[in-house]
Amino acid sequence: MNAPVEQKETSDALGEGTEVDRIRLMPLALANKIAAGEVVQRPASAVKELIENALDAGATRIDVVLQDAGSTLIQVTDNGSGMSETDARMAVKRHATSKIRSVEDLESISTLGFRGEALASIASVSHFDIRTGQDEEHAAFQLRLEGGEEVDGLPAPPIRGTSVSVRNLYFNVPARRNFLKRPQTELKHILDAVQVLALAHPNVAFSIEHDGNTLLSVEDEDGDMLRAAAARMAALLPVGSPEDLIRVGESTSYLSVEGFLGHPDTARRTRGLQFLFVNGRWVKNRYLEHAVHAAYEYLLPEGAYPFFALFLNIDPRHVDVNVHPTKSEVKFDDERGVYGMLRAVVGKALGTTLGSPDFSRAKPLSGLDLGFSSSGSSSSATEEHPGRGLPPSGSRPLQGGNPALDALLGGSGAGSGRPSLSSDRVSDASRSLYEGARRTETLQAGSLGPTASNATSGLGEEGLLWQLHDTYILTQILSGLVIIDQQMAHERILYEQAKACLKDGFGLSQQLLFPRTIEFSASEYALLEGLMPDLAKLGFDIEPFGGNSVIVRGVPADISAGDERSVLDEIVDQYRAFERVEGLSGRENLARSMARRGAVRAGIPLSPREMRSLIDQLFQCETPYASPDGRPTMIRMSGNELRERFDRK
Ligand code: ADP
Ligand code: MG
Repeated sequence: MNAPVEQKETSDALGEGTEVDRIRLMPLALANKIAAGEVVQRPASAVKELIENALDAGATRIDVVLQDAGSTLIQVTDNGSGMSETDARMAVKRHATSKIRSVEDLESISTLGFRGEALASIASVSHFDIRTGQDEEHAAFQLRLEGGEEVDGLPAPPIRGTSVSVRNLYFNVPARRNFLKRPQTELKHILDAVQVLALAHPNVAFSIEHDGNTLLSVEDEDGDMLRAAAARMAALLPVGSPEDLIRVGESTSYLSVEGFLGHPDTARRTRGLQFLFVNGRWVKNRYLEHAVHAAYEYLLPEGAYPFFALFLNIDPRHVDVNVHPTKSEVKFDDERGVYGMLRAVVGKALGTTLGSPDFSRAKPLSGLDLGFSSSGSSSSATEEHPGRGLPPSGSRPLQGGNPALDALLGGSGAGSGRPSLSSDRVSDASRSLYEGARRTETLQAGSLGPTASNATSGLGEEGLLWQLHDTYILTQILSGLVIIDQQMAHERILYEQAKACLKDGFGLSQQLLFPRTIEFSASEYALLEGLMPDLAKLGFDIEPFGGNSVIVRGVPADISAGDERSVLDEIVDQYRAFERVEGLSGRENLARSMARRGAVRAGIPLSPREMRSLIDQLFQCETPYASPDGRPTMIRMSGNELRERFDRK
């Protein structure tokens, strides 16, 4: 492929059909109109494409004028390079672009546009007027088209830059025109589209005028990119002043990540303030957003979404932006690597700024090494399990009393054997645990003394249970002590419950008083549809409801009504993350996703009753000693080990 090829405008030459052969090439005008459906889905898409063209042309000032939320007029004026008359005529033809010339160019795109279809598409469904000039001395050129057909092309007074006016969008596609949402909605889409472009290009001035009112106006910020970006963010978004933002900056030979994070305290209930840019292009990528969430893992309460605006720069050869006509989706050749780095970089920035938040609630245990580091989860293992970014279930009480406790306590085992992770001696282990927890008087020599137990327990009848840093449950056992990771433990419990439901199909369901319809993206829907039979077993009562929506009539008993949407979102998110990172599929994935989603997180205070119940249920599990992904749920320290550490003879 070489320079753009001039296309035939007439339809006849394209398909001279006979009686037998019925397939014809489409008339060009029709092809453009169909493409317009993809590229110009709504006025906001036209605004986006026109602004991207202006940015590609090197503009430093872009002014947008709208009437009737863009349906009557969209005008975008820039001070960029402008075009010659020939180029202007060329520009409105399909697949005409100055930006790539070869297949190789497609591998390394650095401009926002490259498909050469925006202007042709927009022009085919509007009254289109482009005025463009390259300097202030020579005449500019004005070209008018209606429904893609040239009406006239005339000289115009000199200007440097380009002004495109799109009037009566979809005038010749009534179906599409009728499909437009309320003007406020379309206007909001336009503002959102301009906002991300303005965030990504802080060194360009932007303005939007709608029906005579100025809705947005920002001057070009100077100085280095990151400082300019912070100033631009502060100007456009409710994120406080630039000093309140946490700065991120890190680079490797493969990728650089720069930008800003919001303080966890400023997190919101929606994802509206989360922006990822790849090589200057705003992209939507749930998977990478997840990486950022995962880094915030202990810092955020349920359903809270932090602000972030992160600029990823990567050699264009490692990223494919040509996945979708609107170019808002990208693919990396090493998506996992990008995930890992993003998570690490964000985690580091948060850690540096905020200290070690998950341990900030309690005073550190001075000098006492409880051997947490020997828990066996190496940092690389943690990297393998990125699913932690989802909102926790909060301090929702664990269900179930502890009727099993007495049963478990029925026998009085010595509990001397140290259970290994692969041990199936569940009853021995739990017996030993409860013996210790109840019978404070039977401490072996060398274990925690009575003073310590009085000081730490304060639980009276409940026995010795102490929540450490709102994360670990510490309890005394006959032979020493056990430290249980509350989240890992709860994940194990929920995982086994989900597995049992998936096997037997007896998930308890509660019917919603008002069934809810929920719309998903096409890909989310496709995934959800495949999961429906299994979701039903877990207690979801869901049916397809046309298009990409489902109707939810019932949810598992432990999910509160009103949370259906977020719960399903989270499951889908988590499922995808596990699919991509762990390569899990099917029921195993679903069970793990349910467990991840529902498990109580680190940092959540538990009542003694909740802790008790958690331990009870843990020891009813088939494999109580490991989380679903193989991390330990608990570590033990024997009396002997304590003795050795204290150098007791
Ligand atoms: P693409 O941006 O994918 O190349 P478009 O249809 O959006 O395709 O634009 C076609 C061509 O018109 C661009 O490649 C560019 O050369 C030219 N062009 C469009 N808008 C402008 C503008 N505002 N200033 C200068 N050149 C422009
Ligand atoms: Mg373009």
